[in-house]
Amino acid sequence: MTQRTDTRVLMQELTRPEYEARVGDSIVILPVGSTEQHGPHLPLGSDAIQVEEIARRVALRLGAIVAPTIPYGYRSAPRSGGGEIFSGTTSVTGQTLILVVRDILQALIRHGSRRIVVLDGHYENNMFLHEAIHLVLDAGAPPDLRILKILWVDPIPTETLDRAWPDGFPGWALEHAAHLETSVMLALRPDLVRREEIREDGVESLPPYDVYPQAPDFVPASGVLSDPTRGTAEAGELLLASAVDGLVAVIERELGTVPSAAR
Ligand code: ZN
Ligand code: MN
Repeated sequence: MTQRTDTRVLMQELTRPEYEARVGDSIVILPVGSTEQHGPHLPLGSDAIQVEEIARRVALRLGAIVAPTIPYGYRSAPRSGGGEIFSGTTSVTGQTLILVVRDILQALIRHGSRRIVVLDGHYENNMFLHEAIHLVLDAGAPPDLRILKILWVDPIPTETLDRAWPDGFPGWALEHAAHLETSVMLALRPDLVRREEIREDGVESLPPYDVYPQAPDFVPASGVLSDPTRGTAEAGELLLASAVDGLVAVIERELGTVPSAAR
């Protein structure tokens, strides 16, 4: 794929003629975040802030366009985001998320976009994004349309994860408002990390099931699922750089060439 040099990548900063000139050939990235408690030290917008900045960095590398980030996500699950019992967590139902994403994808397609990345920043969104994409396909999408759906952390290789955690990567199970997110936010937006509120908390493990309604003591009252105290901006930069490199590679591999029938 030819590297583009456009430095304006946010759709909201483009004029209609600028957008029109690029949308057919450019990849469009749709970041999907959440508004969710992230403990006493990280802001409620952590998922949206991280996924938008990663989308922006990837877009700069690819000459892509970043559509406005969806700031709300599907309901927080106890074992991945603390659950719906916390103040600040502001979620939408599966139906709502499906229809919002479907509507945005259909608009992008109408504008001429044929290569779209749905970049997920909140674990719980996954199957609703899957459904939205299927509704678009079911409605009769253009034959040359390609959509890639990916969670932004997924391309980070295991070796990098092992380097970023002080004692090696423990797995994603309890990573919420913990080492990764604290480190990445320290790298991206140190002004938003309340360092004095970072304290050791978390659980050793959680049962492999959910009970409804959620018991108030199922997860720590802090909303932090595992230790954030050893997070550093350096680890955050390492994870970010690795995620961006990995995403660029996946996107180039999967969307880099347009099917010949198309153009
Ligand atoms: Zn998060
Ligand atoms: Mn989340």
